[in-house]
Amino acid sequence: MLSDPSNEYIIAEAERRIIAALDQEPIPLVDNRDRRDFLIYPTARLIVERIGNQRLREYQAEAESKAVNAHLSDEVDTEFVVHMCTESFGWDVRIVGSEHEKDRLPIPLRLYNLRMRFENYLEVAPQFHQSSWKLVNRPLDRGWVPIRRSELDRLISGKFRQIIVQSTLEVPTLLPARLTEAVQRIESELGSKIRRTAPLEISETSTSAFPPCIAQMHSDALAGKNLPHEARFALAAFLLNIGMSTDEVMRVFSASPDFVQDLARYQVEHIAGQRRGAASREGGYTAPGCRKMQGNGLCPVYLGSAFDPLCEYVLHPLQFYETRAWEIAHGITSRTWYGRKRQKKQHF
Ligand code: SF4
Repeated sequence: MLSDPSNEYIIAEAERRIIAALDQEPIPLVDNRDRRDFLIYPTARLIVERIGNQRLREYQAEAESKAVNAHLSDEVDTEFVVHMCTESFGWDVRIVGSEHEKDRLPIPLRLYNLRMRFENYLEVAPQFHQSSWKLVNRPLDRGWVPIRRSELDRLISGKFRQIIVQSTLEVPTLLPARLTEAVQRIESELGSKIRRTAPLEISETSTSAFPPCIAQMHSDALAGKNLPHEARFALAAFLLNIGMSTDEVMRVFSASPDFVQDLARYQVEHIAGQRRGAASREGGYTAPGCRKMQGNGLCPVYLGSAFDPLCEYVLHPLQFYETRAWEIAHGITSRTWYGRKRQKKQHF
């Protein structure tokens, strides 16, 4: 069907959509009042999957997720939105009925006009950094999480992002010639565009380059768990070393039950080298290396609860991050090159 000349606009629009994602611009939505318009999104997905570059996939996920959120915020029919996520994701979301029904609820629950099963809520909400998304910070009513309509929109767009990033789309071996040309054009743009655009914001998706130790501490901090002092220092120093601002690092720790804003700011700024006394440490502290992490019981690979083959070839979490980020940027998923190009530095 895509080889039919009358359908060429579908491929052209799909290409435009991918280029917009790469340029971090809003996705151009096409509305020709033609049923074929619906094919533009899957065609754009097909092109990205055929290229198989993880960084490109992340750009697409980010842009499509934002487009979904913008589109949903214009949709006034809540019943339609609920029906859509029930049909598409199998979520159990219910509209809280009449004012009379709301009046029978405890007062804090009357603010919400929707409710969602907690297991569906947890499919997406843990990806969001703000503490208001943590389940412990929300009312829970016999397994139902009360939510607002705007929150449902955000959860749906987050699910879209997740689907694209974790894509398992089957791509046919033989593609129509027009589509193959589109794949080649995007591929030729890729290197320059990814280099030209600003570095990816630290997001739910770009944390995929974190080594197991940092990934564990980062998700524990976001989940509101109290981290031991050594873990806080290691995580804060690592995040600052890879270019996060002090405000962003503060946000990572803000869900902690004993979070005290002024104290946390003081500590993070001290680690960043922005406080007197740390000034002699140019640029602040460097995150601890693997040996130190292992000695402090903070290396899950050493403890046997996680494994990544790259850990055997590095001696520092920052080396891991640099290598994994490079692999992601170049769409390299095979780990077989470690043994050919590098010497093992640790054995587990
Ligand atoms: S080996 Fe190093 S990089 Fe890997 S999890 Fe342990 S401390 Fe982190």
